[in-house]
Amino acid sequence: MIERALVIGAGIAGIQAALDIANSGYEVVLVEKEPSIGGHMAQLSETFPTLDCSQCILTPRTVEVGHHEKIRLYTYSEIESIQKDSNDGDFNVTIRRRAAYIDWDKCTGCGACQEKCPFKVESIFERGIGPRKVVYTLSPQAVPNKPVIDAENCRYLQSLWDIQAGRIPAVDKNGNPAKPKCGACLKFCPTEAIDFEQKDSLIEEKVGAIIVATGYDLFPQNRLPEYGGGKIPDVVDGLAFERLLAASGPTAGKVLRPSDGKPPLEVVFIQCSGSRDPERGVPYCSKICCMYTAKQAILYKHRIPQGQAYVFYIDVRAGGKGYEEFLNRAQEEDGVVYLRGKVSKLFREGDKIIVKGADTLSNRTVEIAADMVVLATAVIPRATSRKIAEMLNLEMDENGFFTASNEELEPVVSAEPRIFLAGTGLGPKDIPETVAQASGAAAKVLSMFQREKVTA
Ligand SMILES: Cc1cc2nc3c(=O)[nH]c(=O)nc-3n(C[C@H](O)[C@H](O)[C@H](O)COP(=O)(O)OP(=O)(O)OC[C@H]3O[C@@H](n4cnc5c(N)ncnc54)[C@H](O)[C@@H]3O)c2cc1C
Ligand code: SF4
Ligand code: SF4
Repeated sequence: MIERALVIGAGIAGIQAALDIANSGYEVVLVEKEPSIGGHMAQLSETFPTLDCSQCILTPRTVEVGHHEKIRLYTYSEIESIQKDSNDGDFNVTIRRRAAYIDWDKCTGCGACQEKCPFKVESIFERGIGPRKVVYTLSPQAVPNKPVIDAENCRYLQSLWDIQAGRIPAVDKNGNPAKPKCGACLKFCPTEAIDFEQKDSLIEEKVGAIIVATGYDLFPQNRLPEYGGGKIPDVVDGLAFERLLAASGPTAGKVLRPSDGKPPLEVVFIQCSGSRDPERGVPYCSKICCMYTAKQAILYKHRIPQGQAYVFYIDVRAGGKGYEEFLNRAQEEDGVVYLRGKVSKLFREGDKIIVKGADTLSNRTVEIAADMVVLATAVIPRATSRKIAEMLNLEMDENGFFTASNEELEPVVSAEPRIFLAGTGLGPKDIPETVAQASGAAAKVLSMFQREKVTA
């Protein structure tokens, strides 16, 4: 067996697993589909229940991964194929590294291209509440700190390809060769790193074990029509609110309404948006929303002390160390009003959002004219997980989460030999549980490598 591991996905689960293995002296191939590592943790403001700055506790680990001599990091990359070697049981992995249109060996990460690029588009990392440039890194703390060019929105690439395909005449009306438009980054890059001819590349790696850590997504708002279907700009999901609270976010940590930039004075949080709702959403509890909603309500009150936060809940689940106390703090110290009941609908009226619901404890209907609504939308598996499951013959449950071979006693071991699982790809969980599981998966790989050494 080759004593080298592949980790798929570099959120906090993949990062932790990769570091544990690499720090024990074994090589790791870490593959991440985004331009930089960190996953959703890089989007969070502060973390419950300690209110640590998420980026501050994450950055030492992302930096360690970036510099680790035992970790081969492939970002902006995906698994093209994996073949099991019938002789030794190792895996032959083909990785597709997407063209960034920038030569990262020449790039110093100076940022001049991002500054000079004249075009902005909506940023997925900022959950639609902030823009990014067409040439971009995910965040100022990105690891690696190398930008990529979004080809679909780049004027130069689109006009270059139009000329090459004959959609634009090869010569202009004066008989001069047609030139691609823009090229500001090309002009201002001090190291000539911009490479519009770059193509995707395929890389081959051989590994003896695999950890799958592909993470989660949030239930799309457009599948919640009773909550505005994603069409009301001031009705956002939990990750968008994290970006509003984050010092590195588009408002530098100020809570401002996306529609008009005003501070919202009444904010309604709706837990279980799509969770525990088999008809309209998913049947299971998303586990983390009670806690992150309490955190967001507390942080909102810290930013806007004169504001009022309301939380609609079905029941509160706070089964972690210090979690119950944290929830009590939200109500008792920060004055967050908890209303037990469901919101039946919400709609825009003038510049307010009318939230209609029921308070089942006092048995009365409630109507709040809110400035902003935050939906704690259900945690769902990444769409890309299914492709990985098919490639590796992994089992998934009816909701699309990976399943372990023995959920009680071997929760990180898949039914396929030498393939392990970690993090929210297995189901919703918070950061401490994710990290514990990742270390568990890494320990399984390490004991396998050790056994191999002893028996070799
Ligand atoms: C609004 C909100 C607030 C939260 N606040 C807190 C909090 O305060 N405290 C707390 O403990 N938890 C919090 N959480 C939970 C926390 O986000 C998760 O526990 C944690 O981020 C899970 O990490 P992960 O690595 O499992 O998944 P992810 O962060 O989703 O990482 C998965 C990574 O895999 C990559 N990937 C996916 N598919 C592929 C593929 N096919 N090939 C290559 N790469 C791939 C993704 O791009 C991503 O980088 C919060 C969650 C939400 C939604
Ligand atoms: S060519 Fe122009 S649009 Fe394209 S990334 Fe460079 S500066 Fe931006
Ligand atoms: S201007 Fe050039 S060197 Fe600077 S970040 Fe952009 S590509 Fe890299």
